[in-house]
Amino acid sequence: MYKWVEIDLDAIESNFLKIREMVRPETKVLGVVKADAYGHGIIEVSRALVHSGVDFLGVTEIAEGIKLREAGIKTPVLVFGPFLPEDAFYFQEFDLTATLSDLNSIRNIVTQGFRITAHLKIETGLGRTGFKYTELAELAQILNNNDNILIEGIYSHLATSMSPDSSFSYKQFENFTEAIKFFEKEGFKIPIKHICNSAALVKFPQMHLDMVRAGTILYGQEVAGNLSLQGGQKNAWYLKGQITYINDLPKGHSIGYERSHFLKAAAKTAVVPIGFHHGFSVEPIPRPKGLLDLIKVLAKVLLRFIDHPRMKTYVRIRDKEVPVIGKVGMQMTILDVTSIPDLIIGETVEMPGRRTNISLDLPKVYLREGKPIKIRKISEKYEEFLNNLSD
Ligand SMILES: *Cc1c(COP(=O)(O)O)cnc(C)c1O
Repeated sequence: MYKWVEIDLDAIESNFLKIREMVRPETKVLGVVKADAYGHGIIEVSRALVHSGVDFLGVTEIAEGIKLREAGIKTPVLVFGPFLPEDAFYFQEFDLTATLSDLNSIRNIVTQGFRITAHLKIETGLGRTGFKYTELAELAQILNNNDNILIEGIYSHLATSMSPDSSFSYKQFENFTEAIKFFEKEGFKIPIKHICNSAALVKFPQMHLDMVRAGTILYGQEVAGNLSLQGGQKNAWYLKGQITYINDLPKGHSIGYERSHFLKAAAKTAVVPIGFHHGFSVEPIPRPKGLLDLIKVLAKVLLRFIDHPRMKTYVRIRDKEVPVIGKVGMQMTILDVTSIPDLIIGETVEMPGRRTNISLDLPKVYLREGKPIKIRKISEKYEEFLNNLSD
């Protein structure tokens, strides 16, 4: 099979149920399944969430919502992103809930005569999309004058919920509260008010309101430092590959492109058929946020320069950590497997990877009770190939 991603649906379900317990019974939970459910597979994950009782699903784009409907999923779907005027039709056609974040798109829907359900998006500090406080009076007037649009919810999105400094999140919450108060004064009854993403739902119980929107934490990823669900969230995602080549190389031999690594002693090396094309070792270098951050980034670069063990990337074989050596290739990575002298071709390697960058060329193996229940293959031909292999 060479390489695949394993997705533990029980882990996702368990994380969901923990979130469910963390919020008040009347607070809804929206499962964020945008970006192919953060690389876990939108349909399979959404079905598992629906099975566990999720109240809403959230995606960024209309096309993602249509995919859910075409798979027969009937749960309410909130589309977060802004949309082109000609696409307003799809909300009505596929019973998707729109996010309204500007006056023009509302006027468009009204003139085109569509009947849709929507949530209002309020700009409270993220600086991306949403109504500014100064626009609310005009917004209220437009909404009062037509009933094509059912306003079911109002929400905002936090810019710094992951940061240890909560002050800007409190500021955004305050701005959001002001907007809610405005609509209440105008006589609007908006049932679903929401602002929390994963980090915020763990950190700020006072902000849970009528719904929380959980993404990252649902998939068992850490949201910030040591923040986690009570009892810990379970990882739901494993990138795995099989060793396809083993080699013995002498001391001093260079490894990989640009000869970035030289063996300090004779070594056993191995190749795993996963590279940056598959989402492995794509390390964004973020712009340092201040002087301290800049120093940290420079220190890391320095440690990498001297080939410090802390800066190496490790993969797991037989519960042992083995280092990646040389530059990661497009579809191949070289490992130093000297510590496993009896390693054989075909053994499984578990690798870290950026889930949302994961290549669609990787089959997804879905697990329940630790056993594969379904494989989402990448093509019919490949399916045949896999069947032959598993015999
Ligand atoms: C992605 C997203 C979320 C989920 O964020 P996490 O930090 O992954 O939980 C919530 N709300 C909106 C609007 C989003 O775009």
